Amino acid sequence: MENSDFKRTYIYGESALGNLKKNQMPAYPRNYEIWYTYAAGFNRGLNKAINDVLRTNGTITLAQLDTIYEEILSPNRLSDRVDEVGVKISSELRTIVNEVEQYVSSTSNYGNSLLGASQDLSKTEDRQVIREIVSQLISETREAEEKNRSLNDQLAASQAQVMELRESLDTIRYESLTDDLTTLANRKHFDRTLEHAMQDANETGEPLTLLITDIDHFKQFNDTFGHQTGDQVLRLVAVAVKQNVKGQDIPCRYGGEEFAVILPRTNLRQAVAVAENIRKAVMAKELIKRSTGENLGRITISIGCSVFTPGDHAQDLIERADQCMYTAKRQGRNLVKCETDPDVPELLTETGAA
Ligand code: GH3
Ligand code: MG
Ligand code: MG
Repeated sequence: MENSDFKRTYIYGESALGNLKKNQMPAYPRNYEIWYTYAAGFNRGLNKAINDVLRTNGTITLAQLDTIYEEILSPNRLSDRVDEVGVKISSELRTIVNEVEQYVSSTSNYGNSLLGASQDLSKTEDRQVIREIVSQLISETREAEEKNRSLNDQLAASQAQVMELRESLDTIRYESLTDDLTTLANRKHFDRTLEHAMQDANETGEPLTLLITDIDHFKQFNDTFGHQTGDQVLRLVAVAVKQNVKGQDIPCRYGGEEFAVILPRTNLRQAVAVAENIRKAVMAKELIKRSTGENLGRITISIGCSVFTPGDHAQDLIERADQCMYTAKRQGRNLVKCETDPDVPELLTETGAA
C-alpha cells in the first residue's frame, strides 16, 4: 500500500472512531463503515443525510443512523442486490412453473371430458341426455377458455417482471465493472477485456496495443490541494482519456491515479498518436477549483505504450507498458514512450528456473 494511502485511511479511521465516541455508538463494523465513509466523503448522499440530521438535532441516534444506512449504503451493496434479484427471479420462475402445471392438468381434464362425452354420446339417442352432455361440454369449454386467458395474463405479467429483473441485472453488471469515481471501466473489467483482446489479436493477427498513463507528481498535488480536489482531477483526466479514444478502444481506471487504454486493431505508431493526443489534452486544461475559483495550475501525465506479441501473457504486455511509462518519468515526465524507442531499456524477463 502506498504510504499516502496509509496516512489518509488512518485519518478517516480516526475521524470515524471520533464520531462513534462522540455519538456514543458501539464500534461495530457497520457503524464504523458509515462513519468511515462519512469521513472519506465519497458518498455525497450519505454525508448530506447525516449532516441534515445533525443540523436539525445537533446529534444523531443509532436508529437514525440505521435508517440512513438502509436507505443509502445498503442498497449500494452489489452482493445484496444480486441476491435480491436472484430471489425475485426464482419466485417468478416458480409462479410460471405452477401456472403451466395447472394449465397442463386442466387441459388434460378437459381432454378426458371430451373423450367421455363422445363415448356417452355414441351410446344414447335420448334428446334430454344429449342436451345435458352438450350443456356440460359448453360449461367445461368456457372454464378451459377462462383458464387459458388467466394463464396468458399471468405469462404476460411474468414476462414484464422478468424483463425488469433482467434490466436490474444489467445495471448491477454495469456497476460491478465500472469505477465509481470516473465511470470508466474498473480493473476487473480491464483484466477481462485485455484477455479477450489478446485472444482476438492471436486469432486475427491484428495488432493490439496498450497504454498506461500515470499522473505526474500527483502526490504533491494531493498534499497541496487536498485529496478531494485530487479526486476531481482524476475525473478530469478520465474525461480527457475518454474523449481521445474511439468506440473500439477501452479506457479503464487501472489503479489510483493510473489509467490504461486497450487499443484493439491499432499498431504502435497509431497508439503513440492516441497517447500524444491524451497527453496534450490533459496538459491543455487549466485547473480551476469550482468552489473558490482558485487557479490550481496544470497537471501532466506520462504514458507508456506496448504492443502485443503472440505468446505474451497479459502481465508481459502490462510490464512493458509500465517500463515505458517509467522511462517517460525518468526523462522528465509529460512524455509518451513506446517499447521500440531506443531509450527504453529492454525488459528483463526471467525464463526457466528462478
Ligand atoms: P510521479 O510523477 O513519479 O508519478 O509522482 P507521483 O507523486 O504521482 O507518484 P505516484 O504515482 O507514486 O503517486 C501516486 C499518488 O497518487 C499517491 C496518492 O497521493 C495519489 N492517489 C492515488 N490514488 C488516488 C485517488 O484515488 N485519489 C486521489 N486524490 N489521489 C490518489
Ligand atoms: Mg502512480
Ligand atoms: Mg504519479
